[in-house]
Order: sequence, then C-alpha cells, then structure tokens
Amino acid sequence: MSNRYHEYSKSNSANRYHEYSLQSGGKSNRYYEYNKSTSGSCKKLKEMLTKSDNQVCADCDAPDPKWASANIGVFLCLKCCSVHRNLGTEISKVLSVTLDEWSEEDIDSMVEVGGNSSANAIYEAYFPDGISKPKPNASIEERTKFIRSKYELQEFLKPSLRMVSSKSSFRSCVSSDFSSFTVQPHQKNAADASRSIGTLKVKVVRGIDLAIRDFRSSDPYVILMLGQQKVQTSVIQSNLNPVWNEELKLPIPQRFGALKLQVFDHDTFSADDIMGEAEIDLQPFMAAATAFGDDEMSFDMQVGKWLKSSDNALIKDSTINIVGGKIKQEIHLKLQNVECGELELELEWIPLQ
Ligand SMILES: [Zn+2]
Repeated sequence: MSNRYHEYSKSNSANRYHEYSLQSGGKSNRYYEYNKSTSGSCKKLKEMLTKSDNQVCADCDAPDPKWASANIGVFLCLKCCSVHRNLGTEISKVLSVTLDEWSEEDIDSMVEVGGNSSANAIYEAYFPDGISKPKPNASIEERTKFIRSKYELQEFLKPSLRMVSSKSSFRSCVSSDFSSFTVQPHQKNAADASRSIGTLKVKVVRGIDLAIRDFRSSDPYVILMLGQQKVQTSVIQSNLNPVWNEELKLPIPQRFGALKLQVFDHDTFSADDIMGEAEIDLQPFMAAATAFGDDEMSFDMQVGKWLKSSDNALIKDSTINIVGGKIKQEIHLKLQNVECGELELELEWIPLQ
C-alpha cells in the first residue's frame, strides 16, 4: 500500500475518493472501455493471482478464487462473488478472472489495491468482539451478513478512515458508494460529527500582484473560514506582494466543507474592502490525511493531488506529499471575483495526539 498514488479533480473526485477509501476503483458504471490490447495489464493480473494472499477468497478463505471485485480490488470464490453481485455494481463490480474481458482500468484498479491482503488490511482493519470471517462452507445468510458489513456498511474499517464529508457537490456525484462509505451508524449524532478529527495547519505564504484598494496600494490580510471557524493573518501595510509566512490552525470536524478564504484591504476609517476570494477543496488533502496521517512515514512521497480545473481557483495542480513524516499540500491560487491577485498557501496535517 505504500506506493499508492492518487489524483483528484472536481469531476471525478468522488470516484477517486472512494478509490482512496480502499484504493478501489469507484463506480463500476464509470465509462467502461474494453481494450483488446491489454496483454501487459493481463499479465499484471495473472501475476497478482500467483501471490499467496490472492489464492484464497478475500471474504471466506476458500481456495482458488476465480472471481474478483475490480473496484474493491479483491479475489473471490464463487459463493462470495454471488453475494457481491447482489450488492450492486456501485458497491462491487464483479468480474470473472478467466471468463470476462477486463478493461485496463479495472486491471489497474486491482493492481493499485494490491490484492486481498492489502484490501483486507483496510476493510478488515478492526473486527468488533464476536465478529469473525465466514468459513468456506458458511451459509449464504452468514456470508451475506459479513460481506454487507464489510463493504456496504464498512463496519470494519479502522476508525480514522470512517470519515464524513458534508460537501454536497461531492456527495451528489457518488451518492451511492460515497454514502455507504461515510454514513456510519454510530456517527449519526451531531456531537460525533462536530468532534475534531485532527488539525489543519495553513501557512499563508504570500500574495502576488494583489488588487489596489487604496490610493496606490493596499493593506492586505487574509481570512480563512471553515464552517463556523474563522482565523486571520496580520495586516501588512502598503504591499501588493505581501509575504506573511503566517501559520493558522483550524480543527477539522468529522463533517467539513470547503476551506474558504478572502483577502481584504484593511481600512482604518471605513469598512475593509475585499480583494478577492477562493475556495479550497479539502477532500484530496483529507483523503491523504486519513489514509496516511496516523502512520509513521519515514520516507517522502507523493500521496495525492488536487487537479487544476475550470471550476476551481488553482493556478497549477496542487500536489499532496509526505515530507519528513508530515502530510503537506502546496496551493497556488488565483483569487476569484477580483481583477488580479494570487495567493500561495501550504496545508499541513496535525493528527490527534
Ligand atoms: Zn468466499
């Protein structure tokens, strides 16, 4: 699971998010392109099957599984496969290892997960007392109960992965699999939802070519807003290219939306004038934070990306990296609803102690 690499964009962030959730491929009804020239990929699939963890069913340990869930990334026996099929393709996209033709995307999705032990490390991270896996000869009822709990209700994820977002656009594009991922029965009350899951440290680095609001310059400062929380930088006098390098902290609740920012010109005698604003989609960052935030990562690597698109304020793709054991994201924004101005920020994740 260490070489996971995920890209996010507005258009497919939901899918990709689910992908993060278990590095599984998101919705099965995403475009499905058969590709005859997938011999290289097929080879990868066959190689995966030779690994010992993939030689038993991911759900019941029956030997020699001939089926797979391409989006979840597990190999399955025929009995478990039929339960998966009943979950619906938005939860599990079942394919025969030997009979079906696999798209390159499906194979990549399997390879990315890494197979049964990698997937189970997350889907079976934590069994409550009294729960255990079904045996190969388990009844259909027992098998169904387990498989639904494991993938549909996702009851055995490690607690830090049970994350909730309130972002509506995000939810709407994958209502089915995303909600199955997020809506955990024990998290439904509001107290749980507002409890902090960690802290976001935002370093407001600098502004570039900001708008003029006073006679020749501006006295800019930046406000960050997350839900009801609001923090702000100091005012820098008469500077259109201010360097703040100021760190602001915001606790992240279970349910969080976009991080909003506004730049203002400080006026002593009148109301402050706005100098632009922008929204930061925290999903890619939080996906990385929940996947890697608890771990002791001793090497640097890229773990995600928020992609520039026509409906966000990014000037360039924003990568999420593990640097010196910390999850960080550099963001370069073009301020919106203003004639000019850019802002550079750095996000850093501070996990709960
Ligand atoms: Zn099975």
